[in-house]
Amino acid sequence: MQSDNIYITKPILPKLTDFTDGIEKIFESDQLTNMGKLHNELEKKLQTELDVSNFSLFNNGTTALITALNVLELPPESEVITTPYTFPATIHSIILSGLKPTFCDIEPETMCINADKIENLINDKTSAILGVHVYGFPCDVQKIEKISKKYNLKVIYDGAHCFSSKINGQGIGNYGDITMFSFHATKLFHTIEGGGLAYKDNNLKQKINTFRNFGIESENAVTYLGLNGKMNEISALMGLKNLEIYKFEQNKRMLLKQFYDRNLMIKGIKIPKMPKNTTDSYQYYPIIINDEYPLSRDKIIEKLKSKNIYARKYFYPACNDYDCYKKILEINQDDLPIVNDIKNKVLCLPFYGDLSDNARNLICEVLKDV
Ligand SMILES: *Cc1c(COP(=O)(O)O)cnc(C)c1O
Repeated sequence: MQSDNIYITKPILPKLTDFTDGIEKIFESDQLTNMGKLHNELEKKLQTELDVSNFSLFNNGTTALITALNVLELPPESEVITTPYTFPATIHSIILSGLKPTFCDIEPETMCINADKIENLINDKTSAILGVHVYGFPCDVQKIEKISKKYNLKVIYDGAHCFSSKINGQGIGNYGDITMFSFHATKLFHTIEGGGLAYKDNNLKQKINTFRNFGIESENAVTYLGLNGKMNEISALMGLKNLEIYKFEQNKRMLLKQFYDRNLMIKGIKIPKMPKNTTDSYQYYPIIINDEYPLSRDKIIEKLKSKNIYARKYFYPACNDYDCYKKILEINQDDLPIVNDIKNKVLCLPFYGDLSDNARNLICEVLKDV
């Protein structure tokens, strides 16, 4: 039985019979993983869909990001400038790659890394900038590119939230050296678990794909301390089927966003706007509860919960609050005023195509009725 609870998202799913037909073929083929037929087909299709020149498929976004941080040959223990306003996988990946994250504050409109505050954090040990396109809002890719050229830094983007987004008509994965995408079930387009890397430099392909397969170069040669980042055939099948339907979901979410936008024009509630040159992925619907609103963000969450609606404080806590990082990093909270402000005010509302009219009306009523 399905619960009546309403959560922040719901995964898209193909027609069950379409999926089981595909499963039958996988059973007949006897190949379940290790760069099978469906894996290769999906990898190629995603390169086109994301409008990028190279694309490598992974079993999740985290292994993809760890691979990105390893193949760029950043000096061991060098510093990567990033923001704590992200999912822990971003920061974990830096540390697990033997590098040190340096936290930069965010920009209040996009909630992405504040490019104007990056230069102050650069020192002799800085080797890279890792920007997160939070909720699909784009980092200031132009400014970051300028800084990276000036200081000879690599640029990696965590694009987990921005599947199919375009900046100035170009796939968002064309910016920086490497962009990671996640295809986890909570993401707009998913392969149950999955992820990938987009990159411009053709020379990276062999290295990335070798790293993805334990670093095994050939029968007799293991060249890198790689990992197991291979996507299996059943996930690839889910991806191929979801590629056919994700745009319908995006369209439904666009209409839901328009509904929320119209009905949440309320004093004290700020709805962050996508910059004009960027297309929305429709991954999340975040709002900012400012001081002029009569209730705190946490009180709203309680009110919604009493009606079985589970909005999320995403990202609260931020990564500058977690013990696993506090133990090993020097974190200067005074450098992070916007992160520490936004994390207490942000609220992500339920955002998926199947959200019922009743539910969306109820959510807006709860927010209006104060
Ligand atoms: C989902 C997500 C990841 C991790 O991706 P997985 O595929 O779950 O490993 C990394 N960064 C951000 C911002 C995410 O939202």
